[in-house]
Amino acid sequence: MDRVNAPELVISRGRLVDNIFAVQRRIAPSELMVVMKDDAYGHGIEAVVDAITASDAVVRWFGGYDIPTSLRIRARAGTGPRVFAWATSSEDEARAAISADIDLGVGTEPYLQQVIRAAEALHATARVHLKIDTGLHRNGFRPEEWGRAVDATLEAERRGSIVLEGVWSHLAEASDEEDDEAASAFDQAVAAVRAAGGSPQALHLTASAASWWRPELRGTVSRIGAFCYGIRSGDGPRLPGVAPIASLVAPVVRVDGAGVEVGIGALDGLPTTLVGAEVGTPAGPRRITAVDASRVTLEAWADAAVGDLVHVFGPGEHGESDATTLGEHIGSIGEEILLRLSPRIRRTFVD
Ligand SMILES: *Cc1c(COP(=O)(O)O)cnc(C)c1O
Repeated sequence: MDRVNAPELVISRGRLVDNIFAVQRRIAPSELMVVMKDDAYGHGIEAVVDAITASDAVVRWFGGYDIPTSLRIRARAGTGPRVFAWATSSEDEARAAISADIDLGVGTEPYLQQVIRAAEALHATARVHLKIDTGLHRNGFRPEEWGRAVDATLEAERRGSIVLEGVWSHLAEASDEEDDEAASAFDQAVAAVRAAGGSPQALHLTASAASWWRPELRGTVSRIGAFCYGIRSGDGPRLPGVAPIASLVAPVVRVDGAGVEVGIGALDGLPTTLVGAEVGTPAGPRRITAVDASRVTLEAWADAAVGDLVHVFGPGEHGESDATTLGEHIGSIGEEILLRLSPRIRRTFVD
């Protein structure tokens, strides 16, 4: 593509699928759950599901965070894959989820009771993954509450309103030592479930970084968002076989002695603190010198012309930074650069 009239997020289906294969090779035999919160990290749920469905990749799990998102995934992916929703939700939402065969993450006693009630009202069986709080204190049964939660779940399982499908938690990924402690709390929680007669099949603890780098912490399932979209960890290396799937492109709209103006700006979601960061131009990398409401200004290059294409971020083929490098430039992470992008920016999927 050489020309665009307006900024566009161009997303490669091929790179998405390559990333999924690379992640699956790396984590096998742990199964990949592709995490799709925040509209698939800003790429667009429906198109991402379509790209996966149309490919040779076999993805058996999707992670939707909340129930509305998970229902969108279910509607698009069909009845084959498992869809996991872990946000505590209302009873109405829980009913909708159970009816749509969505697996529910449950980390509090009131929500457990609500899910049981919802399943009983539907005369259906809810698939539940109990969450143990392994130290992050972001929802999850505390170790001292675990025994009761397990007993209540197994009792509901005997009545047929619940299947205890899984046990899960979330790692801080702040230090290996903390993650090791969390993993040992997790293993104890799983052992307690088994001792009480439960047989959870899905054990999941790790997200992108720990799934990739800490094989000993991987469970039977790994919940991975960032690496599927090619978003590198902060300070992390590029990973073999994994590349950013999205390129943000925008046209040059004005050239003068002071610099080159590109038709994308703060109103489109570009942080004004990106000044100094490098983007890709037909002449290679150039620095951003200003970010205004609807323009960024770049250092000039010879022969710059209106209509030239600038790559604001992407896999680097045009000298552009990746989203993580831009995120680090503003003291944040790559996800933030993608999530701030206005929904008004067109997402275009290409092969
Ligand atoms: C976002 C999220 C993930 C995925 O994290 P990545 O680092 O993007 O792979 C996994 N699990 C939970 C609970 C999450 O909220």
